[in-house]
Amino acid sequence: MDLLTLVVPSYNEEFTLPLFMEEIQRVIKTLDGVAVEIIFVDDGSRDKTLAIIREFHQKYNFVRYISFSRNFGKESAILAGLHASRGTWTAVMDADLQDPPKLLPEMLNFINSGEYDCVGTCRVTRKGEPPIRSFFARCFYKFINCISDTKLVDGARDYKLLSRKAVDALLAMPEVNRFSKGLYEWIGFRTKWISYENVERVAGETKWSFWKLFRYSLQGIVSFSTAPLLISAFLGVFFMFISLVGIATLAVRQLVYNNSVAGWTSLSCIILLIGGVQLFCIGVMGQYMSKMYMEIKRRPHYIVSEQSK
Ligand code: UDP
Ligand code: MG
Repeated sequence: MDLLTLVVPSYNEEFTLPLFMEEIQRVIKTLDGVAVEIIFVDDGSRDKTLAIIREFHQKYNFVRYISFSRNFGKESAILAGLHASRGTWTAVMDADLQDPPKLLPEMLNFINSGEYDCVGTCRVTRKGEPPIRSFFARCFYKFINCISDTKLVDGARDYKLLSRKAVDALLAMPEVNRFSKGLYEWIGFRTKWISYENVERVAGETKWSFWKLFRYSLQGIVSFSTAPLLISAFLGVFFMFISLVGIATLAVRQLVYNNSVAGWTSLSCIILLIGGVQLFCIGVMGQYMSKMYMEIKRRPHYIVSEQSK
């Protein structure tokens, strides 16, 4: 019998996990001819998440778990789950039921047809999300799709069903700075997209602050595009050109009209502007360097403090 592995990253999810378990069991019962294992990855939770997961493991033989020594982030939790997965197919889904388990039978049908290696899910609305977050998310997708060869789908979730081939391809990418949405696209394979209306979290609250999301989006850009480096080089050439024109104008003014000293305020504005642009460009380079620094260290993606068999 084919095995379906569900990888569930969980960070401080004590309120959502019991609801998740109830719902997922309801869905599992409807799956014919497929065995299911669930791998909960406790990402260093500080509430009762680990205790609840241990309880699930004792009660249900299809539940396995991995617990991290501290919070390593959702990306590391997904990676740990994929490493541990034994399934013919593997689905990654959130613990808060925002990735509706009821879509699983349909997703399995598509992957079972043999035509697809990935089945992705995509929200058609962002209902219930703060408007400012939706706005920046849209800007992010527009920007990254402009500058990167890896095209991301706006509204795509991390909720995916993957064949063994796709999982192995993801595991073959050893990078420390992981951005799943980009990695899923980068590996290629034929992907079927399923759309659904946004569902709000059943309980608890989001773990992503605006600042955390901002840093994550920078990671996405830096991991999948080197265009910002090129843009900063172009900016440098642009300002060099303007300064050459300025020098030529001043030389002519001095030689022909003999009145080159005028307008120091505009000069200081220009110096400030160019200084700002230079700092910005150094910052862009710094982003890439800091990512390289983290990659070169080759630290493990996560540290496991406890895990089931
Ligand atoms: N998560 C995690 N580690 C983190 C943050 C989140 O494992 O550092 C998990 C979280 O428990 C949930 C999923 O990632 O299962 C999505 O998180 P959340 O619902 O907070 O994000 P949102 O849906 O608001 O984007
Ligand atoms: Mg959520």
